[in-house]
Amino acid sequence: MKEILISVRCLHCGHVSYVKSEQLISATLEPEIREAILKNTYFQGTCSCCGQPYAYFHPFLYVDQAHDFVIYGAIDETHSDRGKWEQYASRYAHSVIVTSPPALREQILILEDQLDPKKIRHLKTLLQKKKTQYHRFSYEGKEADCYWFSAEDENGVKTQLGIPICRERKKDL
Ligand SMILES: [Zn+2]
Repeated sequence: MKEILISVRCLHCGHVSYVKSEQLISATLEPEIREAILKNTYFQGTCSCCGQPYAYFHPFLYVDQAHDFVIYGAIDETHSDRGKWEQYASRYAHSVIVTSPPALREQILILEDQLDPKKIRHLKTLLQKKKTQYHRFSYEGKEADCYWFSAEDENGVKTQLGIPICRERKKDL
């Protein structure tokens, strides 16, 4: 059974909605799910009782055959379904665990660009030290010889910050 039914309690009115979701997501076979994750619309719904938006998350396995990676979705790092998928997932070169939809989106972007998640985490730490007015750094892509990150200031306004690829390679990696 690939499809599962998730119960989500609305934080505004307490109404419980039942949402169909996926235990196994294939980037190749379900490109529309990948798109929705990247647009931040997957793992979200609207309460049928009060109309407020809700979000949910549950254990799953995201598989990208073309880029040779898997991503485990987990409620927290110690409660993943890793054991259940281990044999299947071990065929892939890279695997990471994520515990939120934004982290899933970011890891897809990093691994599709064939970058090392540890190196990107290191770059984010460096950015955080230099740009103390921002928080919530998130990898967005590789373009014009830069790695691009989105960051938020204290008012929640998002900015794009670029790190030149050559310079950071020489100095930081
Ligand atoms: Zn509601």
